[in-house]
Amino acid sequence: MQQKMENLVELQQIDDNISETLAARRKLEEEGMALTSELEKIQEVVDKLTLDLDTAEKEKRELEEIAVQGQEKIKKSEKRLPEIRTTKEYTAVMKEIDSAKKANHEVQEKIKLKDSDIEAVTREKDESENTLNEIRAKVDERNAEISPQIAEFDQNLSAKAESREQLLNNLPSSLKRRYKILIEQRAGVAVVEAKGGACLGCNMRLPPQFFNSLHSSDEIQSCPHCNRFLYVKTKENA
Ligand SMILES: [Zn+2]
Repeated sequence: MQQKMENLVELQQIDDNISETLAARRKLEEEGMALTSELEKIQEVVDKLTLDLDTAEKEKRELEEIAVQGQEKIKKSEKRLPEIRTTKEYTAVMKEIDSAKKANHEVQEKIKLKDSDIEAVTREKDESENTLNEIRAKVDERNAEISPQIAEFDQNLSAKAESREQLLNNLPSSLKRRYKILIEQRAGVAVVEAKGGACLGCNMRLPPQFFNSLHSSDEIQSCPHCNRFLYVKTKENA
């Protein structure tokens, strides 16, 4: 195989390698993003439960304050009883005390309900926090593997980009241009083997005479169907 063709074959190998590395890199990056979003979702649940708990506790404190005020009101009314002179007034104060006690009883019931709310939310929050911690440990562990792999891919990619540039610059500019166009137009495959009388890029049969000439030609040849550069493997370079 002549030097220019060898350069083209090598270029294609580098481009294949770059594509594979980019795909593997993208996969890892996507995995990392999926892990992060999984973590964020559980964090959101924990945040919401924390907020719910704060609200429930605040509401409970408000109820407790109302209960204290109610208790004071009852005491105050009860203190007045010995000084009362008329039956009418006595009945009124007793009625006051009675309704204050009733109201306080209702508040105590509400506090009980609030307590069971708080208990349920606390349990749920604890469970979510446990899940969050478990998943965070897993995510951290996986990210610790992903990050250096991505860094390694990046190093590999920049080395490959450099080799690619060098090989491209070794080619005559017309060939360089054709290679770049083919890479773009032919899904990243510009250089293919011709084997068994066919182009392995488009799988079309090549004219027999043309196929035979590939073995001896010193010229760079292209597939008449897909335009890709064609090479044949000889015993020396197989
Ligand atoms: Zn072809």
